Amino acid sequence: MTAPSQTSAKPIGGPPSRAGRWPLTAQRRPLVGYLFLIVTIDLVAIVGLSLVTVPSVGDLLVFCSLMACGAVCIEATRRLGMPAGVSRDLLSAWWLPVALLLPPVYALLAPIPLQILLQLRVRATVVYRRVVTSAAIGLAAGAASLVFHSQVDDPARLTEGVGWPIVLAVGCAALFTILNTALIAVAAHTADPDVRWRDVLWDRESLLLDAVELCLGLIVAIMCGLNLLLLVLALPPVMLLQRSLMHAQLQAAARTDPKTGLLNAAAWQREADTEIVRAHRTGEMLALLIVDIDHFKRVNDTYGHLVGDQVLIGVAATLRSQLRDYDVVGRFGGEEFVVLLPRADLAEARRVAERLRSRVGRMAVPADDAMITVTISLGVAIMNVHGHDLIELLAAADLALYRAKELGRDRVCLPAQQMPPPGGKPATAC
Ligand code: GH3
Ligand code: MG
Ligand code: MG
Repeated sequence: MTAPSQTSAKPIGGPPSRAGRWPLTAQRRPLVGYLFLIVTIDLVAIVGLSLVTVPSVGDLLVFCSLMACGAVCIEATRRLGMPAGVSRDLLSAWWLPVALLLPPVYALLAPIPLQILLQLRVRATVVYRRVVTSAAIGLAAGAASLVFHSQVDDPARLTEGVGWPIVLAVGCAALFTILNTALIAVAAHTADPDVRWRDVLWDRESLLLDAVELCLGLIVAIMCGLNLLLLVLALPPVMLLQRSLMHAQLQAAARTDPKTGLLNAAAWQREADTEIVRAHRTGEMLALLIVDIDHFKRVNDTYGHLVGDQVLIGVAATLRSQLRDYDVVGRFGGEEFVVLLPRADLAEARRVAERLRSRVGRMAVPADDAMITVTISLGVAIMNVHGHDLIELLAAADLALYRAKELGRDRVCLPAQQMPPPGGKPATAC
């Protein structure tokens, strides 16, 4: 499962968004309503199912053992740290067996102790996010558990290793993942309607992780159903997988600007360099844009830095949403962004730059009783026209940006001069 600044369940509010740092009261009304709805349904389900569940020592023992394994996993990866923003873990390996082997109420309860442990031991975040994450996982696991138990009278049949119970268990594990992802994706989209659905649903990487979690959860469930002591054998490989997953995420986080979720300046520069070398090798065109928010200081001065941050996040999301997957976009620093457009010639680069300018100009960020709009200025440089390497292209685009500011802002400009052809004089571009 994926989670906001921690483990398990998809991000509430997506990558760095207002949900990331702001309290519940600062969230959009529809989001608050949605979150209350999830938590209320979860609580009602817990109370309702508790009343019809006969507690047994055996069930409690299985539940506590699986929770203990989850706790050991959390402790084992704790020292690695936790990337900010969205993160993934393999805790489903422990609550999927709970859902399959025990009565449904246990599936609803299982996320609670582990979320408390994550909050206390790994990363303290706003409490409502833990509560909502618990509720979303609980509801998804509870639904999967209800479906499984409605079809299989004795969960021990899972350990026979054949036929219908196994197929159903796979289906229920998939249902768990789908429901959890859907619940959190709706929250992320309600928090920020500009976020694309495809960004809050699955990508290829998370599908692969979901499949790994599903397999692990089923294997652990079968082992646990055979003999509770076999959990001792399941724990080390799950722990190791969890550690390597966390390590990969921390590496990715080191490339990312935490505020906007775009590449940070160093990572952007590395990727841009690679693209430029590739373009030289293949003879393809390439363009570079520098984007600067106009009069951004006024936004901060008028509405404060927190609102300024929301504007930055909004601009970053708008830029990303308007670019192709292989365009390289990063935050260069402050209120400046950089975009590399592989295979773009002058006409294409101008078209993209104008589109970015117009889309950001139409974007509005709510603040108290106002809607904040900003404009951007863009400097464009084309490879082999305004510069040959990254440094020359950045310098040319920066000069063009300077012109855009001088000419009144909210516009796209090219550098005043083109690169001289070898041995020739500089020519005027625009
Ligand atoms: P111009 O149109 O000439 O670009 O004017 P400007 O006000 O945008 O430019 P200036 O360089 O004067 O101010 C940039 C402002 O951006 C100042 C700084 O406080 C603000 N800023 C930089 N980084 C951040 C940030 O991460 N969050 C917020 N809220 N503000 C930031
Ligand atoms: Mg500016
Ligand atoms: Mg600036």
